[in-house]
Amino acid sequence: MDSKEDNTANPQLVSRLRDAIGHENVKTSKMERLLYSHDLAPLPKETQIAFKNVPDVVVRPRNTDDVVKIVKIAYEEGVPITPRGSSTWGLGGSMPVFGGILVDFTGLMNNILDINPVDLTVTVQPGATWKQVYEACLEKGLLLGSYPSSFPSATIGGWISTGGIGMGSMKYGGAADNIRNMEVVMPDGTLINTGFDLVADNMSGYNLQRLICSSEGTLGLICKVTLKLVPAPEVMKALSYAFDSLEAAGAPLMEILRKRVDPLHIGFSDGKHFEMLRKIGRHAPEVGAMVNIELEGAKEVVAYEEKVIDEIMAKHGAKRMSDEVAEHEWEERCYEFRVREIGLGSIPGEVIVPLKHFAEFTKRTNKLLDQLNMTGAIIGTVADRNTVMFMPYYLADFDNLVNLTSFGFNSKLSDISYEYGGRPLGFGSFFASNLDKIRGPGAKYIRMIKNTIDPTDIMNPGKMVGTSIRGNIKIPPMLFELGMGAMAVVKQAIPKSKDVEERMEMYEQERAKKERAEAVHQHPKEKKH
Ligand SMILES: Cc1cc2nc3c(=O)[nH]c(=O)nc-3n(C[C@H](O)[C@H](O)[C@H](O)COP(=O)(O)OP(=O)(O)OC[C@H]3O[C@@H](n4cnc5c(N)ncnc54)[C@H](O)[C@@H]3O)c2cc1C
Repeated sequence: MDSKEDNTANPQLVSRLRDAIGHENVKTSKMERLLYSHDLAPLPKETQIAFKNVPDVVVRPRNTDDVVKIVKIAYEEGVPITPRGSSTWGLGGSMPVFGGILVDFTGLMNNILDINPVDLTVTVQPGATWKQVYEACLEKGLLLGSYPSSFPSATIGGWISTGGIGMGSMKYGGAADNIRNMEVVMPDGTLINTGFDLVADNMSGYNLQRLICSSEGTLGLICKVTLKLVPAPEVMKALSYAFDSLEAAGAPLMEILRKRVDPLHIGFSDGKHFEMLRKIGRHAPEVGAMVNIELEGAKEVVAYEEKVIDEIMAKHGAKRMSDEVAEHEWEERCYEFRVREIGLGSIPGEVIVPLKHFAEFTKRTNKLLDQLNMTGAIIGTVADRNTVMFMPYYLADFDNLVNLTSFGFNSKLSDISYEYGGRPLGFGSFFASNLDKIRGPGAKYIRMIKNTIDPTDIMNPGKMVGTSIRGNIKIPPMLFELGMGAMAVVKQAIPKSKDVEERMEMYEQERAKKERAEAVHQHPKEKKH
């Protein structure tokens, strides 16, 4: 027996799990369980008053059979299950709310099972990362259309469960749009297929594929996914344009997307984003804002699209950056939160708004960051011809309970997005109370679906369909909203923290010192003279 074992789970549960999937794949040590008690940002210890966020036991299934066994045991024992990918989401989706079994899909279910150039599909396990799959397909001359910008670590199962939009969504849609089929283990242990490996899933009854996508792990565990691919493009071309301010990018983007050009991706960052990068010693352009566009396809088509975009951008006063800068920005597309290297949490508040409100929404977001005394910046992507995803982010030390008031920003940002016909993205455990506001009367049917499929509420409970805390106490949406509003008021009253600036300075000094030491180490002779 593991000497560090500190078992809070019932011994019968642990022993059944070990018999089913192997002793070595069931972990109960306190250290291990603590590692799985939060997602993106570590939470202050005090959050354990509200959430039983330390799981009782962590399991690493090897295959779908193991997952079926785990779910059947959980169902029989009435124990909650929390599925987890790489935990990059940030809304507490993969954080347990009531303890129980945490299923880690990254450990042993992270393989690419098949890349099929004839059927244009790739079949993968849920714990594989999007980068791993993207690169393996590209090597075989095939393109995986879209993936999250967290693709170096985000898992197939994680992004699909959130129904996200990201890189390439402009042309190929979001996480839900490129799936042929999924194997999903339902809350009673039944294994289902949500679609068909080789053909479209239309005219086949209620769309199970869409039901599972965006369900945030509350309806079943995704165990295998077959994704659609397209032939790799003849050329890919990165374009970057500088603006005096992010607001100024709204009008040209609107004009470009009302033309028959079809970019793979459009991303943008404001000047504050680059300023923070420079402060931590990273090379970043000194611009008010930058829009990055990636084109792909046949040579002639890409050349035509480049010309159209160039003309529109020039008309609106944008400055075309060099190809080197554009290539660099494309390479960096998945590392936009490098500023977290300073050791502080960065929480993005993801919202979508109609493209026509780009400038106005940018202005309001900046004002909000200032009002709440936050150190942050705005980045985002254009998800389709009419939808912009804004991901403003801010830095805060979340070990300090007071800084949880920063969540007030997300709530206020959501309110602004509603005003423009948009909405916040995702629920997790932190924003589960938004369901009624976003879905209106439809929320009732979403809860009915959850109750029908998972009547004993073992599948990722405390998420999406309502905020719950320890003891299964449900927090009414009104109360949650009041709480969030209060957080924003408190945050406004707290002077801007010096933590962030100080950490940036310290980090930069450390980095410069390290670089100098490395230079001396590499060229000791030259340095002596
Ligand atoms: C730098 C950065 C960039 C990001 N960019 C984007 C972006 O472009 N677009 C975007 O949409 N999001 C983005 N995100 C948010 C996040 O990275 C994505 O949602 C990501 O895809 C989540 O994957 P994950 O493996 O980390 O999932 P986790 O955070 O581990 O889990 C997410 C949800 O999925 C559930 N889940 C995980 N695996 C399974 C499974 N096998 N079966 C059932 N449920 C499961 C979890 O319970 C949880 O509710 C970004 C985050 C960061 C930090």
